[in-house]
Amino acid sequence: MNMYHEPLYRPPAEANSLILQITLGCSYNKCSFCSMYETKAFKIKDIKQIFEEIDSLSIYQDTRRVFLADGDALACDTSFLLEVLKYLKKTFPKLQRVASYASPYNLLEKTQEELNNLREHGLSLVYYGIESGNHELLKYINKPMKPSKMVEGLNKATNANMKISATLILGLGGKSLSIQHIDDSAKLVNECEHINYLSTLQLGVSHTKEDAFFKRFEDKNQEFIFCSDEDMLEEQKRLISLISPKKPIIFRSNHASNALPLKGTLPKDRDDLLKVLGEAIEDNSMLRPKFLRGF
Ligand code: SF4
Repeated sequence: MNMYHEPLYRPPAEANSLILQITLGCSYNKCSFCSMYETKAFKIKDIKQIFEEIDSLSIYQDTRRVFLADGDALACDTSFLLEVLKYLKKTFPKLQRVASYASPYNLLEKTQEELNNLREHGLSLVYYGIESGNHELLKYINKPMKPSKMVEGLNKATNANMKISATLILGLGGKSLSIQHIDDSAKLVNECEHINYLSTLQLGVSHTKEDAFFKRFEDKNQEFIFCSDEDMLEEQKRLISLISPKKPIIFRSNHASNALPLKGTLPKDRDDLLKVLGEAIEDNSMLRPKFLRGF
């Protein structure tokens, strides 16, 4: 049976994981740049249906990793998630890791105890879109979360012993807000107890979202001028220079949207990453051709 409701997304690092779609869409679904779930109304699947789907996937007895889709499976009640996690553990004895996307709202809504409980039952990694650490810019993109609240939510996940994989979007504030976007994003990252993995994406706004995206900037009398690849590499340089984490962060820009794939550990590899970025700014031939990119 085809149990998946398209479109189906998962992070690049979950390419080899078994995907279990326990929700459809995103419970928030309002970010002005994001069109991932615009065709889906948010829905939590019936637990019986989820158990049946797990049963039908039980032929994959070597499963070690499961990703809970769609956009923010953590929006489900904790008791519901615990039932799913227990059933997964019972079905797949070799299971080592369960991961899901988590929105800033999800982490704040769960208590520390609930997150601890989810971690004890196997949820060990959350993928989290910071997007920006600048509060004004977060309002422009209709994700008006206070940066201090994001730090609070992320630290709760860390305290629960979950790993965090977070993303920032280069070019999100256009040329006018570039400096504030990067400086406040680095500040937010530095205030977190431990972001295990940090990735950058380059902004891409789909045609269906363009009007809404620009209108929010216009409404605030803020001109939006797209950043060029070079501008975004400069943003990345500034970001890497300013990140001074409490614990080492594995940094990546391997998402298909990026002009320049990078990988290193911060702060250890800072100088090497800055050197490669400097070279790429001077030499455009190092950049991934635009036709090979996607958001
Ligand atoms: S960016 Fe994340 S939280 Fe925002 S609408 Fe898209 S999936 Fe939902």
